[in-house]
Amino acid sequence: MHYLDYAATTPVPQPVAEVMAAELTEGFGNPSAQYPLGREAKKRMEAHRAVIAGALGCEGKALHFVSCGTEGDNWAIRAALWQNRRVGKHIVTTAVEHSAVLETLKALSQQGYEVTFLKPDGSGHITAAQVAAALRDDTALVSVMLVNNETGCRFPVEEIADLLRGRQTLLHTDAVQGFLKVPFSVRALGADLVTLSGHKVGGPKGIGALYIGPRLPHPRPLLFGGGQEAGLRSGTEATAQIAGFAKAVELRLSTLEKDLRHMAELKAYAIERLSAIPGLVRVGEGEAPHILSVSLPGYPSQNIVNDLGAQGICISAGSACHQGRASHVLTAMGLDKHTAAGTIRISFGPESTQGDVDALADALSRHQRERFPMLG
Ligand code: PLP
Repeated sequence: MHYLDYAATTPVPQPVAEVMAAELTEGFGNPSAQYPLGREAKKRMEAHRAVIAGALGCEGKALHFVSCGTEGDNWAIRAALWQNRRVGKHIVTTAVEHSAVLETLKALSQQGYEVTFLKPDGSGHITAAQVAAALRDDTALVSVMLVNNETGCRFPVEEIADLLRGRQTLLHTDAVQGFLKVPFSVRALGADLVTLSGHKVGGPKGIGALYIGPRLPHPRPLLFGGGQEAGLRSGTEATAQIAGFAKAVELRLSTLEKDLRHMAELKAYAIERLSAIPGLVRVGEGEAPHILSVSLPGYPSQNIVNDLGAQGICISAGSACHQGRASHVLTAMGLDKHTAAGTIRISFGPESTQGDVDALADALSRHQRERFPMLG
């Protein structure tokens, strides 16, 4: 198999699976329990929180575990709007956010909120100047992702934070695709809320985290109940998932520079190899080292994905979260119909090899030679 869909999810390395198994079988205590089995589970969980917080450059107490990136995005937006309920009901975001953000905002727009969606240019980028032009006195929240999951474009979150300085407007960034791919600290980023997800960095599915900064001193709880996660997100903590997430972060950090270089080199190699395929074009100019989008205009991406999938090559058509629907990201970038319909996303991880790229290039060439384009 040639797995080239790391932006969709990542394999869990053996050491991650091992710490999770130990947590499930031996250290299974409830972290709220008062006997040693529980207290030790709590102690380990706090150590795990510190590892992930360390990777973000923040204190553990600012980091709250949630079940996934989607939950983190939902909570961040609602917490910010609650905090700024007296500022107003205007929100600025981009038209290319993940659906976890877009669908939340769509729901809110039916509850009296007004949302400005910024469109990217043809390269997939948005600028801080676009955000500046959209700000109003009643803008309660700006939500701009760090790295786009379809194009790999990195958005200027630091610059946006700068222009919000002195205003009450809160800044959320969905850093699910940026975490451990485009190194940052929450301090340098300047965002008030930062969403992460475990399964994009070698951790298990079912765990994410939300950084909540000091401008939200009393955040609105997401779930009410037993008072876990500092009273903000009740529910018995997923200790095995948390342990796996922390182990994955620890592993990634230990080889980060080398891995990022490796992925960037592989991406450059893929661009070179794929450019030789007649008609193939690159989509967007994403900087993130792990994401590359290309299109074979006229060749529907779902057919490519199915054809290559049958040969053991895993890639995605646009974003895995939008299978079967025209990608809102490509549409917002103004791509013509055939280029958008032929776009595939290739994404790399530390384990990816030149052999994977060679297999992909050969299979794509074959697809291009042997299938008829559909240009109706
Ligand atoms: N945000 C971005 C940018 C993503 O790419 C994804 C997943 O693809 C998510 C949020 C959702 O994360 P999760 O799958 O953990 O809910």
